[in-house]
Amino acid sequence: QIAEWRKLRDEETVSKDGVHVELAANIGTPNDVAGVLDNGGEGVGLYRTEFLYMGRDKLPSEDVQYNAYKTVLEKMEGKPVVVRTLDIGGDKELSYLQLPKEMNPFLGFRAVRLCLDRQDIFRTQLRALLRASVHGNLRIMFPMIATLGEFREAKALLLEEKEKLAAEGTPVSEDIQLGIMVEIPSTAVLADQFAKEVDFFSIGTNDLIQYTMAADRMNERVSYLYQPYNPAILRLVKMVIDAAHREGRWVGMCGEMAGDQTAIPLLLGLGLDEFSMSATSILPARSLISKLSRTDMESLAAKALEMQTAEQVVELVQSIEA
Ligand code: PEP
Ligand code: MG
Repeated sequence: QIAEWRKLRDEETVSKDGVHVELAANIGTPNDVAGVLDNGGEGVGLYRTEFLYMGRDKLPSEDVQYNAYKTVLEKMEGKPVVVRTLDIGGDKELSYLQLPKEMNPFLGFRAVRLCLDRQDIFRTQLRALLRASVHGNLRIMFPMIATLGEFREAKALLLEEKEKLAAEGTPVSEDIQLGIMVEIPSTAVLADQFAKEVDFFSIGTNDLIQYTMAADRMNERVSYLYQPYNPAILRLVKMVIDAAHREGRWVGMCGEMAGDQTAIPLLLGLGLDEFSMSATSILPARSLISKLSRTDMESLAAKALEMQTAEQVVELVQSIEA
């Protein structure tokens, strides 16, 4: 089996009936890029920039960030790299920001909410990204977007920093795609409106599942409610993909679900364009997709959407494996 995966490393990801999808990787640091290429990743679908801010006693400077982003873009040699802006809060703390403790950190002051308030932090990151953009194929993505207002505000700050750089004579790429993570149910429900304004969506199922099921992703006692295959989740995913495609946008997924062998047949059938996962899941996923017909998976997904429980959906998917 390992020999088969190796053979697939330099190939595109194509279903049995000839549909191409993209398999990308989630990374946390520039050092992770070697593993992405080694496993045949077609891009980086999620660069979690939090790690640049963690494990140090103060904010990373613009140059420290610029160097990290540039390194990743260069090593990826023109393949797309989706960089997510700072997603701190929730389970990830930064002691040096000295934020007050919250009752419900996952529902609190985190990610883009913090960035729109602490514009000094956000603008520094945006400048570093814009400067790095000339070194590869950069895509920027905002996390935890709950409203169109937040997206517009964040985008406005990005454009302001871009103009400032232009005025200073610093080169910036003209084709940076700008997208959002869909990980809050309000945004999934309103995806048709967001799709008119963003270049792409990336569905963050780790959070989308916890917010949809109202079940803390870190709490063992409610982990039985953490159900990727619940038809409610599948319907949200479908809404997002259909809304995006109607506006000609592409949709990725960067939560754990994207690399899950049981979920992949369903996601292929729902029309997902890009799957971003840990690097070691890429070749098994490529192998699986090469054996599946997208047309058949469309029927499978249509059946799954009409089911009542996650257990029934799992049974349905397992029935095709025979
Ligand atoms: C997600 O929520 O699915 C996601 C990819 O982001 P994180 O796991 O970093 O919250
Ligand atoms: Mg998330």
